[in-house]
Amino acid sequence: MDPLATALDQLRHAGQRITPVREAVLGAVLASDSAVSHADLEQHLGAGFDKVSIYRSLEWLEQHGIIHRFASRERTWLFSAGDGDGAHLHFTCSNCGTRSCMDALRLPRIALPPGYSCDSLEVLATGLCATCAKAG
Ligand SMILES: [Zn+2]
Ligand SMILES: [Zn+2]
Repeated sequence: MDPLATALDQLRHAGQRITPVREAVLGAVLASDSAVSHADLEQHLGAGFDKVSIYRSLEWLEQHGIIHRFASRERTWLFSAGDGDGAHLHFTCSNCGTRSCMDALRLPRIALPPGYSCDSLEVLATGLCATCAKAG
């Protein structure tokens, strides 16, 4: 099964209703190599869906662990496939602007001072992606 069918199945099993906008948003996030912003989706999905429905679909997908979000350097939210379970690296290419979710690159556990507890850790790396580094 392709990733979209698998995710839709998972949602149906959880008793969730799949609306056209939800399916379109999920399809667009899964099909993109790079993490996508709300504005990217708006542009990609065109006039068929309104801003608010797109935003609500993103929130809903996130709640169900189908996608996760992280902040870009510009402080906008970017969305990527997967539940984002465990701290992992996100990378922005300073040349072409590609934003990658490197969920295979787990971040080490940070030793906090006594009494502190950590429930999220975000690291955004910047530099050149493989394509740009090669071209450079
Ligand atoms: Zn690049
Ligand atoms: Zn990620």
